[in-house]
Amino acid sequence: MNIILLGPPGAGKGTQARHLVETRGMVQLSTGDMLRAAKESGTEMGRIVADVMARGALVTDEIVIGLIREQLETVKANGFIFDGFPRTLAQADALNDLLAECGETLDAVIELEVNDDVLVTRIVGRAEEARAAGQPVRADDNEESLKIRLMEYYKKTSPLIGYYHARGDLARVDGLADIQAVQGAIARVLDREPIVA
Ligand code: ADP
Repeated sequence: MNIILLGPPGAGKGTQARHLVETRGMVQLSTGDMLRAAKESGTEMGRIVADVMARGALVTDEIVIGLIREQLETVKANGFIFDGFPRTLAQADALNDLLAECGETLDAVIELEVNDDVLVTRIVGRAEEARAAGQPVRADDNEESLKIRLMEYYKKTSPLIGYYHARGDLARVDGLADIQAVQGAIARVLDREPIVA
């Protein structure tokens, strides 16, 4: 089973992806993590993307599609969780093609619904916690970059919600609920249990 977790920065995609890795043995493919790793390892690509990421803008489709292609071609998994990919319609089209090439299907797109106030509180809070604990703070976890990240999300990524809805793949989950409740809601979607209000 292959799924996409969709939602703005701070919606909880990474937290939920890690839980699915632990409980279902799926493999998380986070383009954000891959790009940060490239930056840390000082590769040519890492140097190219570092400034773009710090600003909160999107990296080119070509770069992130290349990263995902590499993973799909080399990693064998009992299901992939796409976290932070696709972020544009061009990336969504590329993912369709890549999955078809590997004989895989896309089984669900889960949108974590949240509101902007919570995102700002969560992300600024996450940065403050890290700072207080003496841990590294993400270069894009500040209010200025976050404004751009949100703008990029609404302009380029949120159209994917309509697209996947039209394909019949979209499931919406309340991302404002507590972590366990969100885990439960996602599990029900994946296990195709009826959602009881
Ligand atoms: P968040 O969802 O919290 O903003 P991510 O770790 O998913 O964080 O992404 C951090 C940054 O990495 C993005 O702001 C963007 O610069 C870059 N990035 C990650 N995934 C993509 C993607 N699919 N397309 C373009 N840029 C990406």
